[in-house]
Amino acid sequence: MLSSYWHCEKRDKCPGRLTQKADQNPMLTASYNHEPDENKNKQEIFITNLKRQIREDPMPIRKIFRSELINRYTNEPDAVCTLPEFYQIKNSLYRTKNENCPPLPKSIEQVTIEVNRKWRLSLRGEDFTMIDNNSLRYLAFDTLESLKMLCSCEHIFADGTFRSSPKPFTQLYSIHIESSMLNGTIPVIYSLLPNKFKNTYLGWKEQYYASAKDDPISIKALYQQTCALAFIPTSSIDDIWCNITDAFDNLPGVQVFFDYVTDTWVDNDSLYPRKL
Ligand SMILES: [Zn+2]
Repeated sequence: MLSSYWHCEKRDKCPGRLTQKADQNPMLTASYNHEPDENKNKQEIFITNLKRQIREDPMPIRKIFRSELINRYTNEPDAVCTLPEFYQIKNSLYRTKNENCPPLPKSIEQVTIEVNRKWRLSLRGEDFTMIDNNSLRYLAFDTLESLKMLCSCEHIFADGTFRSSPKPFTQLYSIHIESSMLNGTIPVIYSLLPNKFKNTYLGWKEQYYASAKDDPISIKALYQQTCALAFIPTSSIDDIWCNITDAFDNLPGVQVFFDYVTDTWVDNDSLYPRKL
């Protein structure tokens, strides 16, 4: 029969010991020399519960923390003020979250996204990676549904952030749309970009937003349709790009943009080869 032996956490200063046989309750074999610290025990139980939920539930950590706090408040309102605050334990919670993740790749070339494995599926089990471009490495994440939403919108919002970009990528670039249902914006495409790509990308975006103050709807529609090229079968790109250039031909200064997109993405010897 297996037994467990427990010692007080202050094992050097306190002789308190317990012995526990199999599934029986632990028996005191040597007495403590101090009173139990009830608050500290409650904190430990709180943190242990949080970590268990973090391991089992893909919800954001802050959300789990909040719901557990509310849960505790409902059961035991007085105990809540002795519990740790989020910032005090967040490092430890994030370590728990990441313990089952593979180590971060050291370079962009080492990033591999395996086909049909959980790392590239959305919570609903749909494929969440639409582009994994290899020559100049960048990734884009979206679903068929989010692309449909993107195409049905008149206005889109796009921005990049460096701070939240996961290493080894330099920028997290996202495209958002207005959602009447949520009364706000929702992200429809996330992409992870290496540095250089970002500069060209932002460069042309700013240039064309700036040069088209007179007709913002048209320039946004052009930008949107051009972005959508990335998600169209490579064999149809020529035709669709022709249609786009015809449709937006009247915009001031637009020829420079057409040339840029053609040279960079559309031509057979373009800077970034077509690849989905
Ligand atoms: Zn003790």
